[in-house]
Amino acid sequence: MTIEKYLVKKASLSTLFDKIKASGKTIKAPVKKRHTTDFAAVGSLDETTDDYITTAQSAKSAVFPRVEKLFGYVKSKNGVELVDYDLSTIPETVLWGVRPCDAAGFDPLNAIFNWDINDVIFSTRLARTTIVGFACAKADSSCFCTSVGGNPGSTAGSDLLFTKLSNGDYLAEIITEKGKAIQALAPELFEAAPSEEKEQNLATVEQKFTREEIKAKAEQYFESDVWKEQAQRCISCGTCAFVCPTCACFDIQDEGHGKHGQRIRIWDSCGFSLFTQHTSGHNPRETQGRRWRQRVMHKFSYMPDRQSVYGCVGCGRCSRACPADMNLLEHLQQIVKL
Ligand code: SF4
Ligand code: SF4
Repeated sequence: MTIEKYLVKKASLSTLFDKIKASGKTIKAPVKKRHTTDFAAVGSLDETTDDYITTAQSAKSAVFPRVEKLFGYVKSKNGVELVDYDLSTIPETVLWGVRPCDAAGFDPLNAIFNWDINDVIFSTRLARTTIVGFACAKADSSCFCTSVGGNPGSTAGSDLLFTKLSNGDYLAEIITEKGKAIQALAPELFEAAPSEEKEQNLATVEQKFTREEIKAKAEQYFESDVWKEQAQRCISCGTCAFVCPTCACFDIQDEGHGKHGQRIRIWDSCGFSLFTQHTSGHNPRETQGRRWRQRVMHKFSYMPDRQSVYGCVGCGRCSRACPADMNLLEHLQQIVKL
């Protein structure tokens, strides 16, 4: 649909929030914890914060939980009966306060989970999630959305995007039918579009390279020592994958309790040394340099080739969270100069 633009007054935002809550939807929004800001279920706008560049964790757990049951089973004399996941238990959820880079991250996740077969659990979660984005008024040195196809005011991936204006009111851009449904909860709060330019209220993020340049150089220098050199600091902790809005690696395990049990999937990381270890003991990615190369190649070469989407949205979380100070932006800048 064509994007519709409105003004929502600062004072109206909490009324809109309350109307969403009253509609029965679960709302997850950024909440300040001691030293960090993360998404959590909230009951009112007062519990949330808008003082963050990105949350520490991405919003992906709303559609791809850290640990998720896939199905249950019951053993009996006659064999094993499988119990399907009850999709009706997945709540209608509004993700409030999603930054444009995170909103863009749902597309690569969707491409992975629906690449060959439809992952009905993921797809149901995504279908029941409405993304209310908030454009970025500030950025830090780890942000590089503009180098990977995004920008601080991008509407891609959001259903409704708010941009804070100079007087504290908001430009509201309604992007999808889900965004329209949010507007329909309180149409009187959506007034005639403001005249102030959106762009003057956005953070500046300098473009350093293009995704296509990274793809070409990473493929050309696949056998280079650069991967080994860059990965020397990496301690294989997996933090970068766990905070990433687009990383989708998971492990599958069965948990049994007597005659009952369940199959679960759990976040995993291609950075872990055991991730690709075969039962024979052979590991095709036995060094951290190879694992680091895989991470970059998957995001910038294999995903665009296989799923027509890049696997990095430039949120910078991996760099901020890395305990060993690996900086993806610096490493990509080095690769593009090879
Ligand atoms: S967070 Fe840093 S140290 Fe941990 S696996 Fe990622 S790059 Fe390596
Ligand atoms: S690889 Fe890093 S910068 Fe790119 S989307 Fe993931 S966490 Fe963000």
